Amino acid sequence: MIIGVLKETLSNETRVALLPSEIKQISTENISFQIEHEAGLGAYFSDIAYEKSGATISSNIYKKSDVIIKINPPSNDEIEKLKDGACLISLINPFINHQIVNKLAKKNISTFCLELIPRSTYAQSMDVLSSQATVSGYKAVLNAANQMPKFFPMLMTPAGTIKPANILILGAGVAGLQAIATASRLGAKVEAFDVRPAAREQVESLGAKFLYMDLDDSAETDSGYAVEMNEDFIKKEMELLHDASKRVDAIITTALIFGKNAPILIKDYMVNDMKKGSCIIDLAAENGGNCELTKPGEIINHNGITIDGRLNLPSQVPLHASQMLSKNISKLLNEIIKDDKIEFNMENEIIKGCLLTHKGEITHEMTKNIIEGKK
Ligand code: NAD
Repeated sequence: MIIGVLKETLSNETRVALLPSEIKQISTENISFQIEHEAGLGAYFSDIAYEKSGATISSNIYKKSDVIIKINPPSNDEIEKLKDGACLISLINPFINHQIVNKLAKKNISTFCLELIPRSTYAQSMDVLSSQATVSGYKAVLNAANQMPKFFPMLMTPAGTIKPANILILGAGVAGLQAIATASRLGAKVEAFDVRPAAREQVESLGAKFLYMDLDDSAETDSGYAVEMNEDFIKKEMELLHDASKRVDAIITTALIFGKNAPILIKDYMVNDMKKGSCIIDLAAENGGNCELTKPGEIINHNGITIDGRLNLPSQVPLHASQMLSKNISKLLNEIIKDDKIEFNMENEIIKGCLLTHKGEITHEMTKNIIEGKK
């Protein structure tokens, strides 16, 4: 079996899906790797490093590979080039990219969709959403520090005492908790809010203050995700956030609802009332943004407030983001390869959970229903 690793074609993408260290571990007499020329360059892994791991550098990956591994959803052109009946391991964003899913099914591709890996304790080591959210949460804080005209920590110097910065983190999932930890390490005073009551303890255990509002368990689904809150709740939440936003120096927003657009939680009047020089780092920009003024992919200045809606923050930390991705994907390969072949064992919870298309069909029930408009 030949496994191919592609060079990502998305602009500004610097990550690579699999590193030489994992290739060395997975290779056997019957499993070999082909790597596209300079696939790892953006993450500082040279072709030579891949060759040393036993892989071959190739310009003909699609024709030769039985399994293709990449990070971002494939373009139409990339789907065309896949061998009929090949396997694809990639992020797909299947609830949005209906055309891609249909095309993959039609081309008889067996797609393992990385977003659909169950978020169970067992599958944690394969969870690319978590690993990349960790990177985003960290980098968002550094980006805030870069945008702000202030220090994060308290400093007592002969030139006077500097007060610590106040940072508000909105959404305390994987990215939000990492942002809290990073901002605290830099010495800021951190406040946070989430709709899930379980998040309160996690926020407080990191030493941050949880903004007070009545919450109940119905805000969380069985799989740990937040539900979409009703208008009344969002109105009260915005009042709480309006107050907090007036006193903070930066807001990092990470609030998401699984399979939906990000909720708008920061309106223009709230931005107008923020301190001049403060900033918003909108990590939800990929899903439209939590601030209504966010322009996905851009940094804008609105009346002296910077709103950073840049996308794909993990790409700004390419080496470690790739290292974590590579570990996730190699664990998934360990799960799906049996006796040097890909196994489509639907009794296996991971395979059942993330096999999106197979034998010409959309095999993932929820995606199929969404695409067919059933719900
Ligand atoms: P996510 O990226 O879907 O959302 C980010 C955060 O936004 C969540 O904490 C959510 O509650 C919050 N949010 C949604 N609407 C909001 C609103 N109106 N106001 C404020 N916050 C709002 O979430 P995630 O980071 O992927 O994690 C979600 C949950 O899944 C967490 O409980 C996490 O611990 C759990 N999880 C478990 C595993 C595992 O067991 N393997 C892996 C990853 C995540």
